[in-house]
Amino acid sequence: MSFKTVKKIALEEHFAIAETIEDSAGFVPADDWIELKSRLLDIHERRIAEMDRSGIELVALSLNAPAVQAIRDPKRAYELSRRANDFLAEQVAKRPDRFRAFAALPMQSPELAIREAQRCMRELGFVGVLVNGFSEDEHGGELYYDMPRFRPFWAALEALDVPFYLHPRNPLPGRAPIYDGHPWMMGPTWAFGQETAVHALRLMGSGLFDEHPALKIILGHMGEGLPYSMWRIDNRNAWVSAKPNYLARRPIAEYFRTNFWLTTSGNFRTQTLVDAMLEIGADRILFSADWPFENMDHAAEWFDHASISENDRIKIGRTNAEQLLKLSA
Ligand code: MN
Repeated sequence: MSFKTVKKIALEEHFAIAETIEDSAGFVPADDWIELKSRLLDIHERRIAEMDRSGIELVALSLNAPAVQAIRDPKRAYELSRRANDFLAEQVAKRPDRFRAFAALPMQSPELAIREAQRCMRELGFVGVLVNGFSEDEHGGELYYDMPRFRPFWAALEALDVPFYLHPRNPLPGRAPIYDGHPWMMGPTWAFGQETAVHALRLMGSGLFDEHPALKIILGHMGEGLPYSMWRIDNRNAWVSAKPNYLARRPIAEYFRTNFWLTTSGNFRTQTLVDAMLEIGADRILFSADWPFENMDHAAEWFDHASISENDRIKIGRTNAEQLLKLSA
């Protein structure tokens, strides 16, 4: 029973504080909200019991979504990030054997985001950053992080040498007419993945990774659909001699294979895992559940028995995370 021997590490596991809890209402039917709310607000009881039951030794915690990213005023976004990060640091300090922390960041202001990222890594011992998709600007528009104003932020993050988890959020109401009349496609069903995949492609095509080749980006949900499309992105109309019309120097798939890591969060499907392994390799895939929106036992039951090699199960379940988050240091 060697699959029982790998004590797993999970990277996309969320909590909420009083100021952000309501951001998660509406993602489940009203009858399930009481349960989801108590799961989000709990850190040390139910959560640790579920980790024990599912063979998960360590979890990197992150704030729920969209939270900081949905605040238009950069100063307020900064204050909320600091409160959430301080709270998280206190929780991790109580159980350093079970928890690590990803920082929430006020990307509305690249300057304040740099300041908070440096504080979290240098003073609070956080292991990375988790940002919930685009941030809203002061006029209610979307700030995507390929925009030139974010280059100083990326330079600072590259210097800190920690991963950036690009976590989903929904497109803004009225800004994505393709979903009009089809609200069932919002959230994890489809819109989360589409929104996040396009954001990731914007980063790849922008030349960001030519300028900052050491950046490490994590995507959840087995890559938000990108592994399945990676070949076609670079090979459509291959008989045409025209060069790709983007700023980056190399094929998109090269950035995907060099600067990206994927987690299994909320996508417990062996067929999908195998496709991701064939595109990006088992060294760049990490186990995660997406608690409390998904169940840890559902993730673990699937992963512990998935038809992959035991060597890959050890990498994906644990050792890749130890390396990426520098846990042995
Ligand atoms: Mn999540």
